Amino acid sequence: MTNNYDVIVIGAGPAGYVAAIRCAQLGMTVACVDAWLGRDGKPALGGTCLNAGCIPSKALLESSRLYDRLQQGMDTHGIAVDGVTLDVAAMMASKDATVHDLTHGIAALFSTHAIEWIAGRGQLLPDRQVQVTPHSGAQHTVSAGHVILATGSVPIELSVAPLDGDTVVDSEGALNWKDVPQRLGIIGAGVIGLELGSVWRRLGAEVVLLEAQEQFLPMADRQLAKSALNLFRKQGLDIRLGERVKAATVTGDGVNVEYENDTDGHTLTVDRLIVAVGRRPCTDGLAAAETELLLDEQGFIHVDEECCTSVPSVYAIGDAVRGPMLAHKGSEEGIAVAERIAGQVSDVNYDAIASVIYTHPEIAWVGKTEEALKQAGVEYRTGLFPFAASGRARAMQETAGEVKILSDAATDQVLGVHIMGEQASELIAQAVMALEFDASSEDIARTIFAHPTLSEAMHEAALAVDGRSIHMARSRRR
Ligand code: FAD
Ligand code: NAD
Repeated sequence: MTNNYDVIVIGAGPAGYVAAIRCAQLGMTVACVDAWLGRDGKPALGGTCLNAGCIPSKALLESSRLYDRLQQGMDTHGIAVDGVTLDVAAMMASKDATVHDLTHGIAALFSTHAIEWIAGRGQLLPDRQVQVTPHSGAQHTVSAGHVILATGSVPIELSVAPLDGDTVVDSEGALNWKDVPQRLGIIGAGVIGLELGSVWRRLGAEVVLLEAQEQFLPMADRQLAKSALNLFRKQGLDIRLGERVKAATVTGDGVNVEYENDTDGHTLTVDRLIVAVGRRPCTDGLAAAETELLLDEQGFIHVDEECCTSVPSVYAIGDAVRGPMLAHKGSEEGIAVAERIAGQVSDVNYDAIASVIYTHPEIAWVGKTEEALKQAGVEYRTGLFPFAASGRARAMQETAGEVKILSDAATDQVLGVHIMGEQASELIAQAVMALEFDASSEDIARTIFAHPTLSEAMHEAALAVDGRSIHMARSRRR
């Protein structure tokens, strides 16, 4: 094993492993140092996303949705289903198998690209040297021409609700329970709270979400967030806004959660509690002081637009730096940095990164919200189309939600697209492409969409921007 590489990547999540592969594709010698240990105690690639984030949560969302549909959604299709039973252990095993296959897939890709996988913790030293503390064995030092820091993020802990690994857990713990809690509390009604709340609600738990903010999903379109709140409450997610948790105490009966709003205090007793109040960058002890790696006050690695840190030839990407904590954002930064190291010109379009919440219905958006446009004083036009007017959505009996397109009043350029509905996570890709290609709403309106598809709602929303939607009696237009 050499100890000198063209590039060393610290962290093998979707930012780091993608950067490593792209560097190898471009002909560089690459090592990737990663500290993750899988549930079997063995080193595993893929970081939070593959091991404890995107993939296991989506596996459980899919399985729990099937169970929920079989339980209550089939009569209207003329299908009677009796004797549906739940095997949580089998569901978890299926999720674990998906994670196993995908993380081993990354290991195979590393092998194919001759990327050296170094299992252990890495620390940046001066002169692009990295000290490796392996899970077992002696510390050693490796060096490179360029270092990419991709150490990701970890859950924020609350001192008033200490984790105990089983009754009070973070998102990772809640992806691994072996049975369904009867009463589940969740602190935080953000993305994780809603997705994991949906999983356990579908499997039979009574779910209460305590959210400190008065506004539900402040980052999403106001109209969609309002409809989503109503829908989720109807589904049985008891979302309580403006509630601050003061203490959570584990007792013989479960967990007593004390919380208060501006006027009064309450106590909630649940069997288990998830703390889902955001994530923070994983940068503690990442760099020796002599390196002069600059972090901001929250611990994010300071980078410029090109992901260059304060240390020459050291880059940082993914959740450890500014911007949305999303896997695809980190991966694109990884590709761009690899290409810049290779001397190419490469760019990340931060204005065209989609956000998705994988509830039912899903919520997805890209670009600007109406609030942001108003604040910036931008004149815009709106086109709306509800899935209730979509033939395919009606055939699927999935009529909740709508597509909203915002376009510049003067140029008609698409500035933002907001979707709530079945398969919004897939539909939003069309909107991302529209933004990427600087499309106008007229470009989408003049595009021929296959019939009958959910995508036609995008077409109709684009027509509605100009007040000429075909399948709505009167196009809603502002
Ligand atoms: P990470 O994936 O966190 O990987 C960082 C890696 O670096 C880890 O393996 C870590 O062990 C390692 N590391 C840290 N410090 C060191 C060190 N000093 N030395 C060596 N190794 C180190 N995003 C989406 O886009 N879509 C989703 O559907 C989605 N669902 C999610 C669901 C959940 C429950 C959670 C928790 C997150 C979800 N996310 C989702 C967010 C997504 O997981 C992150 O944005 C993404 O994983 C960030 O990638 P990353 O490579 O920057 O960091
Ligand atoms: P989040 O920021 O989405 O939500 C956290 C919520 O907790 C916020 O609404 C916040 O107001 C609330 N909160 C904070 N402190 C509180 C307190 N003391 N009491 C009550 N509520 C409190 O964060 P998250 O849901 O933990 O997710 C973390 C990150 O992971 C997000 O940035 C997200 O982008 C990413 N993620 C993405 C996906 C996806 O893309 N589908 C899924 C899961 C996670």
